[in-house]
Amino acid sequence: MATVVAVFTKRCPGCLKNRGSLCPGCCRRLDPTAAGGPGGSFYFALGQPTGSAGDSVAGVALSTYEEFSERVIVAAKNGRTDVLADLGRLLARHRFALRGPVGGETVVSWIPASRSGRRSRGYDQGQLLARSVAAELNRLQRSSGRHSAVGKGPREGIAVCRLFTRHDRCRQTGRTRAERLNGPNLQWRGANGVERLLLVDDVVTTGSSMRSAVGLAEGGGVPSIEALALASVR
Ligand SMILES: [Zn+2]
Repeated sequence: MATVVAVFTKRCPGCLKNRGSLCPGCCRRLDPTAAGGPGGSFYFALGQPTGSAGDSVAGVALSTYEEFSERVIVAAKNGRTDVLADLGRLLARHRFALRGPVGGETVVSWIPASRSGRRSRGYDQGQLLARSVAAELNRLQRSSGRHSAVGKGPREGIAVCRLFTRHDRCRQTGRTRAERLNGPNLQWRGANGVERLLLVDDVVTTGSSMRSAVGLAEGGGVPSIEALALASVR
């Protein structure tokens, strides 16, 4: 019954006023490139504290993790898949504005949610985010006339690919900082011919999940890796 009520009163989780998904005003508040937006880009480093793996990868986030972005992201992680799709589109546009089209065999992948998180939500937010990012990047590349340069053979454009599996049973949420620093137990599933990986995640806290995923992809022979997140904790 609660679900039925929520569907009929669906509102923008940013302002809690406008009906529907993220309203244009709240999109602007999360879009670093928009007039009246937060301005500038938010980068997170994946270099410390273990050194080596991921040192060369700088991440781009839409926003810092503060009250407004937290409210929107928490909604997206708790049933608002429409908002998750909006956030993915914003992230793709921000990435495209910063770095332009991607070439070669580009794959978008994500850090898998824990099994318990997936089960209680009914979806893996990273996977939905990856799909939205890839779809919007494909759209942007098409409209900028760069689509023909992307993808070879039967695969057209930027693909979404499950490159990691995860074996821990508890979520990052609710863990101590020390536990979070160890990150989730990820494994590389292997992939051939990935020239560029766009790795997406919702919130980067310590960067441990991103670091271990980047290290695995580097070990798997991916020459170019970018990390993208909705928000990073400062
Ligand atoms: Zn709004």
